[in-house]
Amino acid sequence: MSRYTGSVCRQCRRENMKLFLKGDRCFSDKCSYDRRGYPPGEHGQKRAKVSDYGTQLREKQKVRRIYGISEKQFRISFKRADRQKGITGTNLLSLLETRLDNAVFRMGFVNSRNQGRHLVRHQHFTVNGKKVNIPSFQVKKGDVIALREKSKKIQAIADSLEAIVRRGIPQWLEIDKEKFTGTVVNIPAREDITLPIQEQLIVELYSK
Ligand code: SF4
Repeated sequence: MSRYTGSVCRQCRRENMKLFLKGDRCFSDKCSYDRRGYPPGEHGQKRAKVSDYGTQLREKQKVRRIYGISEKQFRISFKRADRQKGITGTNLLSLLETRLDNAVFRMGFVNSRNQGRHLVRHQHFTVNGKKVNIPSFQVKKGDVIALREKSKKIQAIADSLEAIVRRGIPQWLEIDKEKFTGTVVNIPAREDITLPIQEQLIVELYSK
């Protein structure tokens, strides 16, 4: 699997919006997008006409970058969403939101999904009392995610929990900061996902 190893901030500039991939830095005056809000590269500042296909492709890339997943994983999620009942685009966003690495980010244990993925891989969290080290693990309604005892000393986690006030906890989750636990109270509905995403464009792209 190819993994993107280039500049993270370049991805925001490419998608022409802040994707909030670098935690606190994104809220500071060091944000590259705030300083150079145009696409990277020699012709970045030129206005180019974008085709329908180009618009759909950019939307897919944007969502893939927000959640930090590979093309292959994204396609697997799309196929799964397509097989489920209901609206494929909404199902897709719901599947991406309920990934374990995203849930720990949304709960405020970490300040980016990338950091969430890293800590999940290193077994810092349990789901319903069992160790889970798979970032793509899908959490379900009623699942309880907890930080393991040995991990409670990690300063970055304490700092992130303090800063969660700024991002806010989505309604489909609840956290207990004292116990370092979080509960999935519901599967997120479309209105719970406030990211500026036009998922219909992704469905159109994959329907070609
Ligand atoms: Fe994007 Fe700015 Fe965060 Fe970099 S610092 S990832 S440009 S939002």
